[in-house]
Amino acid sequence: MSPSPSRVAIVTGAARGIGAAVARRLAAEGFAVALLDLDEAGCRSGADAITADGGRALGVGLDVSDAAQVDASVSRVAEELGPPTVLVNNAGITRDNLLFKMSEQDWDSVINVHLRGSFLMSRAAQKYMTEQGWGRIVNLSSTSALGNRGQANYSTAKAGLQGLTKTLAIELGKFGVTANAIAPGFIATDMTRATAERLGVSFEDMQKAAAQEIPVRRVGQPEDIAGVTAFLVSDDASFVSGQVIYVAGGPKD
Ligand code: NAP
Repeated sequence: MSPSPSRVAIVTGAARGIGAAVARRLAAEGFAVALLDLDEAGCRSGADAITADGGRALGVGLDVSDAAQVDASVSRVAEELGPPTVLVNNAGITRDNLLFKMSEQDWDSVINVHLRGSFLMSRAAQKYMTEQGWGRIVNLSSTSALGNRGQANYSTAKAGLQGLTKTLAIELGKFGVTANAIAPGFIATDMTRATAERLGVSFEDMQKAAAQEIPVRRVGQPEDIAGVTAFLVSDDASFVSGQVIYVAGGPKD
């Protein structure tokens, strides 16, 4: 086991929800953290909170599906915080609809943010990881990768991320870089709150109903995902690569 030479992490979609919790947790683990998101103000306030707690952090606004913005942002992180050795591809959107009502725009935007975004971010960051001979990539998949009504675009993207994860593990392993995916079940965030609104049910009722179907009888919180991420980016996880870890309060098919 070789220790990380540069403890600098990038978390995308870090302005809120799971990404914000992951950024806070990695900062608590001693990483300098770059918070990247479309919402630049949200990233900056997250970074300010980490700095106020004695950590090092940087907030950067970007669209992960734009190659030029991705390359410029990752270079900026390297200059201001140091070479990034951890990347958490978490930025995501939903544009749910049944197949016969799903527009091409709904398909393209979901595929672009999750798949193109994770590809572009991984391509930009791997340079620093392979140079350092140590790296960790964690991709946010979903239980929806197994199929979910109204989510042809999202489930395709989340299944695609599992394939990307395994290929990154195969290509980058000899450089000391691992790649794993976390596939969350129901996590209480703005994303699931928006789903409740779209379906016309209260978020509280939706969580209660979901909890009844989950073996541990509760919905997940962003911190549940942050804890598993902290393990996957640690030295303890150096022999874990190319895996998909379902974090869903019970087994999934
Ligand atoms: P969230 O609260 O909606 O946060 C997602 C963040 O990603 C937002 O801050 C959003 O920015 C940002 N983002 C969207 N498009 C972006 C882009 N093109 N470039 C940069 N940032 C972008 O979602 P969440 O629930 O925390 O989900 C985080 C990840 O976990 C997603 O990949 C999601 O698919 C996955 N996941 C979530 C659940 C769940 O139950 N919540 C379950 C399984 C998987 P804006 O605020 O500007 O839109």
